[in-house]
Amino acid sequence: MLSVRVLEDGSESSGGDFYLGDGLEETLKTSQPDFGILFDVDGVLARGTNPLEPAVKALKLLQDDEGNLKVPVAFVTNACNRSQDKARQISKWFNLQVVPDMVIHAPTPARLLTEFHDKHVLVIGQEHRRDIALDIGFKNVCTIEDIQKAYPFLDMVDHDNRKRVANGTYQDDLSFPRVEAILMIGEPKLWETNLQLLIDLLLTEGKPTKAPSSVMSIKQLPIIACNMDLVFMDRACMPRFGHGSFLLCLESLYKKITGRELDYTALIGKPCEITYRYAEHCIADVAKRLGIQNPIKKLYFIGDNPSVDIVGANLYHRFVRRQSECIDNEDINYLPRSRSIPNNSRLYQQTVLTMESLLVGTGVYKEDEESSDEDVDVYHGHRDIENEPELAKPSKFVKDVFHGIQHILDKEQFSAKT
Ligand SMILES: [Mg+2]
Repeated sequence: MLSVRVLEDGSESSGGDFYLGDGLEETLKTSQPDFGILFDVDGVLARGTNPLEPAVKALKLLQDDEGNLKVPVAFVTNACNRSQDKARQISKWFNLQVVPDMVIHAPTPARLLTEFHDKHVLVIGQEHRRDIALDIGFKNVCTIEDIQKAYPFLDMVDHDNRKRVANGTYQDDLSFPRVEAILMIGEPKLWETNLQLLIDLLLTEGKPTKAPSSVMSIKQLPIIACNMDLVFMDRACMPRFGHGSFLLCLESLYKKITGRELDYTALIGKPCEITYRYAEHCIADVAKRLGIQNPIKKLYFIGDNPSVDIVGANLYHRFVRRQSECIDNEDINYLPRSRSIPNNSRLYQQTVLTMESLLVGTGVYKEDEESSDEDVDVYHGHRDIENEPELAKPSKFVKDVFHGIQHILDKEQFSAKT
């Protein structure tokens, strides 16, 4: 049986599923909420391209009789798609008006990293990677294919390329601008080519036309990495490599070659704090559009993956508690640099004081599955996120998102119905 987190305010964090009673319903508030709800998508609202039936019922609980949303919500996924596509899909699933700004993909919070938006940035990923980078504010991007073309002698792990350049009159394009930062939004195809060229750029400060005199003296290019999930579940019987596996390969090669740890300028995506801070901003924006005057003081996160969704929610809960308890500003910057949250004037003011997490049993987590002993000492999280098993414990387990929403509305004494 899953244990649950005891909240710092001492409130109830466990118990059975709740159903609204007739008497209680009369006392429910219909005034404006001061809370918002964040949903993970896959395993909570849908499996693949199909919405889950409890999710269809759950979203209706948040709408009035005319179908208007009464509680601010946003959708937080570590997938890497175009937000307009996902917004359209969620709208269709639930017959709900969802705008792209309500969808937070792993790279979306890179909107806040404005200091890189005008730099010449190499974007790593697969389909739509250039569009996604442009959509979140980067104006001058190139791809690994551009690097291959500009520097044809780098990719010798591709034997076909060896033969090609041996017989041609190829030369480096010296006019190709220096790469100034690397944005990694998802695992690429052709890992060997990407790893070789990324190391080349890292060892030459973005201009691989001259070998470094000493790898020790090289100033490393800034790296922004989105989504650190080592593996993910799909239709195969075992987990599949995620972007975190690719990052691990790069970290390992860089350390072997230089003797130094790879330095991340920013880690983005669940479970990092910046994604939850950005989600709070989106909820404030949705609340404003719904005409809600109250500051949002509490967020709920509903997810299916304890080590991603729940760890992230608990890390953000810790972050906002420390922010609110910090009187003399001494303790505010306790996060490692790669997880720090930039001061960005575009963000709505932080008003959330607490975040609760609800774990559902419709996705990765199975309530009745005991973890095996050999899992206990294996940590799949990223190097820059400490291994704290306590953080994977939710405020509450619910069997599905419908029961999760019922629990929240009961706890908040709120009804969306007029
Ligand atoms: Mg999920």
